[in-house]
Amino acid sequence: MCGISGIFNVENAETLVAETLFAIQHRGQESCGVAVRDCRGNISYHKGMGLVKNVLTPENLFNHQGNIAIGHVRYPTAGRSDKVNSQPHVAELPEGPHIAVCSNGDIINYYELRTWLENEHNFTFRSDNDGELIGRLVAYYLVHEKMTIENAITETQSQLKGAFSTLLIYRDQMFAFRDPHGYRPFVLGHLDYEEGGELMSDGVVFASESCSFGIVGATFIRELEPGEIIRLEKGKPLKTVSVSAQNRQHCVFELIYFSRPDGFTFNELVYDVRKKIGARLFEYDKENLGVDKDTVVMAVPDSSNFVALGYAQASPANFDMGLLRNHYVGRTFTKPDQKQRDEGVRHKFNPLPDFFTGKKVVLVDDSIVRGTTLRKIVRMVRSAEAKEIHVRIGSPKVIGSCYYGIDTPTRKELIASKKSVDEICSFIEADSLKYMEVEDFDTILKSSGNFCFACFNLKYQHCPDDYHQKTNVPCERC
Ligand code: SF4
Repeated sequence: MCGISGIFNVENAETLVAETLFAIQHRGQESCGVAVRDCRGNISYHKGMGLVKNVLTPENLFNHQGNIAIGHVRYPTAGRSDKVNSQPHVAELPEGPHIAVCSNGDIINYYELRTWLENEHNFTFRSDNDGELIGRLVAYYLVHEKMTIENAITETQSQLKGAFSTLLIYRDQMFAFRDPHGYRPFVLGHLDYEEGGELMSDGVVFASESCSFGIVGATFIRELEPGEIIRLEKGKPLKTVSVSAQNRQHCVFELIYFSRPDGFTFNELVYDVRKKIGARLFEYDKENLGVDKDTVVMAVPDSSNFVALGYAQASPANFDMGLLRNHYVGRTFTKPDQKQRDEGVRHKFNPLPDFFTGKKVVLVDDSIVRGTTLRKIVRMVRSAEAKEIHVRIGSPKVIGSCYYGIDTPTRKELIASKKSVDEICSFIEADSLKYMEVEDFDTILKSSGNFCFACFNLKYQHCPDDYHQKTNVPCERC
């Protein structure tokens, strides 16, 4: 998972993009960057490892000012953890100006397309990153096939398999395009801004999540359609070039875990979805668990907060916060390796003194991946003298990897791919364990048929053979 944003036709667009990226920092903390087109028509960029507040500072952006800008926050899915894989990427064209690209997702046929460009057309790649591939494909169709920029993007979009929400700058134009299934979120807004004391209404803003809009005073307009290509050109109205939608496959994990609760993702208010998940989890327990006013419902903070709140509000129990989270540690799931995740858990959570003694606790989490993190948390609560610990999970069992932009481990590492619910309950040392079922989302989402549940039910849209070829992991599903 990563996050992108772009601003068109607003002075100091680079600064505004940095602010929008700050709002979606939760989508990736490894590296970030901004590319900007200045008033002379040059494209320049600044990117680096680390957080937006440290990399995209006013000093670092001082020499990269313009009115068209795109930006990216990265957490690694494919490609090593290295500055060279940070985005945006700039693809050079023989006569300039260049193309700047940033993308959120995962291209399943990455290696096939990259090898074709390298072997058949002498392209040289600097990174292992999808954004670079997309930029070089567009450059190929533009320069070698002499296509118009619109046709080059349309052709590129048709060649890519997998998930991509992409922004591209070419000359004084910006393009926004999305994969035909709409895996990753992508929203469009409008920016009213002041210039010389006057209210202007010229700017267009794109972002992964609508929570980026408030920070720059933008208004949400709509989500991009799956397969849509949008073109912005100075002095012309926004134009939808084409829409090549296939069956929608929005990532349901965005609603369960990744997206910020204060935004609309896939036309759902994330906060509402999480509370409904919590209420549904209570339905399972209503007749069975003896939940009463002395039961404490608490979240593994923060992504489960509203699921736990929804559970508590539907039940006679009280919602409380017995685990305190250190916010400077970041998300453990998005740390690239197990050692960093383990250290993250130890530094991240701490139980309130005397809070748990003798209590029956319903502990709510969003998902179980390997089980090791949750076991540490259950042990922490148990050693704080809780009487009973009943774990409730706001997603179904994660039994398969994701090939569409989320860095889930291989199936071998996923505890639910090899253990039953009872076995997982024993492993995490809880008194009971219950997951959401895939079918339960029918009553929660406006249209559950528009969502991808592949890591929960193994119903993938694309055979991931190409992905396995890329990572040298043998295909366990096909
Ligand atoms: S496989 Fe899972 S994480 Fe990946 S897009 Fe589908 S629902 Fe989301």
